[in-house]
Amino acid sequence: MNPAYRDIPILLATTNPGKLAEFRELLQSEFPAGLVCCLADLPAVTVPQENGGSFLANARIKALHYSRAFPVMLVVAEDSGLEVPSLCNAPGVHSARYAGNPPSDERNIRFLLEQLSHHKDRDARFVTEAVVARDGRILFHGRGEVKGKILESPRGDGGFGYDPVFFYPPLGKSFAQLHQFEKNAVSHRGLAVKKVKQFLMKTLAEKRD
Ligand code: IMP
Repeated sequence: MNPAYRDIPILLATTNPGKLAEFRELLQSEFPAGLVCCLADLPAVTVPQENGGSFLANARIKALHYSRAFPVMLVVAEDSGLEVPSLCNAPGVHSARYAGNPPSDERNIRFLLEQLSHHKDRDARFVTEAVVARDGRILFHGRGEVKGKILESPRGDGGFGYDPVFFYPPLGKSFAQLHQFEKNAVSHRGLAVKKVKQFLMKTLAEKRD
């Protein structure tokens, strides 16, 4: 840990404790866990409407909103999902609710497999756009992307979302068959967060010079 970073708080704009744990793990070599919090650790504020047409637009909406609410913090917001080119990049920003409300991973997977049943091309990609903002100003954005293929039926019971049908050719397994650390090393979210980490290290080091 570099003591120079000790007093700059970083807010990950999520209430999901799993994402916070993953984020802390990825940052831990440089940023102590106590410096990194999520929305659940702070007083409640209004939630922005995520009505952007792209992952980047939604990540920007969240980063700007929470950086205005908590102006002293460096806010990191991300938006992710699955894109399938043969379905015109659906489910895209609708990934969480592809099969309607209430959101259900199982129904989403079933719906996706139905939509793909007449398509030969099963290429797909997971995408994450991560945005860093402070006091209403965007400072950085980083994209992470991982390519795979949609299986004809689910495989494995780890992970979440579309992981059981997302086959990752380099490891010959679905994302649901990978250990968390294996997925983090190659995943869209892991890649985007690594870019954010590099940006934070550079920026915070410059701030202290
Ligand atoms: P979020 O923006 O990361 O919460 O993701 C929105 C939706 O995209 C989730 O509800 C999942 O359906 C899907 N998704 C995003 N990342 C992943 C992943 O790593 N594995 C499986 N599904 C994912």
